[in-house]
Amino acid sequence: MDINDSLFERARQSIPGGVNSPVRAFGSVGGSPRFMKKAQGPYMWDEEDKRYIDYIGSWGPMILGHNHPEVIRAVHEAVDMGLTFGCATQREILIAEEIKKIIPSIEEVRLVSSGTEAGMSAIRLARGFTGRNKIIKFEGCYHGHSDSLLVKAGSGMLTFGNPSSAGVPAGVTEHTLVLEYNNPAQLEDAFKRYGDDIACVIVEAVAGNMNMVPGKPEFIQAMRDLCTQYGALLIVDEVMTGFRVALGGAQSLYHVTPDITMFGKVIGGGMPVAAFGGRRDVMEKIAPCGPVYQAGTLSGNPVAVACGLATLKLIQEPGFYDRLASQTKRLTDGLQQIANDAGVAFSAQSAGGMFGLYFLDKCPEGFSDVMKSDTKRFNVFFHSMLEEGTYFAPSVFEAGFVSIAHTDEVIDETLKAAKVAFEKVSQL
Ligand SMILES: *Cc1c(COP(=O)(O)O)cnc(C)c1O
Repeated sequence: MDINDSLFERARQSIPGGVNSPVRAFGSVGGSPRFMKKAQGPYMWDEEDKRYIDYIGSWGPMILGHNHPEVIRAVHEAVDMGLTFGCATQREILIAEEIKKIIPSIEEVRLVSSGTEAGMSAIRLARGFTGRNKIIKFEGCYHGHSDSLLVKAGSGMLTFGNPSSAGVPAGVTEHTLVLEYNNPAQLEDAFKRYGDDIACVIVEAVAGNMNMVPGKPEFIQAMRDLCTQYGALLIVDEVMTGFRVALGGAQSLYHVTPDITMFGKVIGGGMPVAAFGGRRDVMEKIAPCGPVYQAGTLSGNPVAVACGLATLKLIQEPGFYDRLASQTKRLTDGLQQIANDAGVAFSAQSAGGMFGLYFLDKCPEGFSDVMKSDTKRFNVFFHSMLEEGTYFAPSVFEAGFVSIAHTDEVIDETLKAAKVAFEKVSQL
């Protein structure tokens, strides 16, 4: 038994499922998860000292690659000054100003510690601002694990949702309507029926939690128009897409102005920072200015904010996103070519430094398409790549991430491994 196997067995004695977040457990691909001990640039090393090219990037934050020297320096400097004060700090102003400079829809922003918190708070704020109860979300989009968002579609198209997790009372999800992604007609029907009690629509404009599915421009536009028409707020969840699909996030790609935006992942550069922000009149409903309660002991933590701030500075270097996008496209184009040569039904696409790989003959347009993915072929591909030292997300439902440290040479090494993997897949 190797080291990863024995660590996994030991972990399961004291941690539920051996992991502190479920997708890490390799539940859908089988086998033991790798226990990582260090990382540098595009690479991670496990406890057996095996090296992997990392295409997860801690699920999004590591856009600069691991351990960028300037980020590490900023963190060390902050650590030396104290770990947490529970008081206001100057650095919090700097990061708020930086976010406002990059994302024009943000007039005020509040920091929290996770994307889940950002989503939960944004929903409460939308309800508090509008005085309405109902929220609309889309099938396949993920906005964190707060109660009202852990919901699956009801039995009919326009019926309210049922909890998708044990422990969530039906009373909590009875105000959540789950609609089909990329279906503007259905959204319009929902507004016609319930428009006067809809507080907000929450969406990933480029969905990254059902593998990657870009929103259609007419879908995103319909959402903006309907929210404005009916007095609901549009919450764009940029926890994954923010500073990732483009410097200005998905909202810059779609030219859409959200009322509230959620951030996470890249904004903390690898430390627990997330945020929600937007219109000043909306944001001023939050305590201590307004009646919507929201708080956090470690919100705006000085070390985490220093890490995020250093990251936000570095991604604004000229040419950063062109390079990131072209490296990502080199990967997806290369994989597509190899799959074609091997005769494997496969498709791939990218948006900035984010990508989707699908064992489908064309790119999916929504959750039901993604559900048709050939999981058996994906699993063979995944394990072959892992064996060759290339770490993709261990599930067909996850998007992938490239960092600026994934140079052409690193991508080409991955493509070499992919030749072996697709050969195996073609023999199934
Ligand atoms: C990761 C993610 C979240 C949740 O963020 P956590 O920090 O894991 O709580 C919310 N929304 C989207 C789109 C995400 O990708």
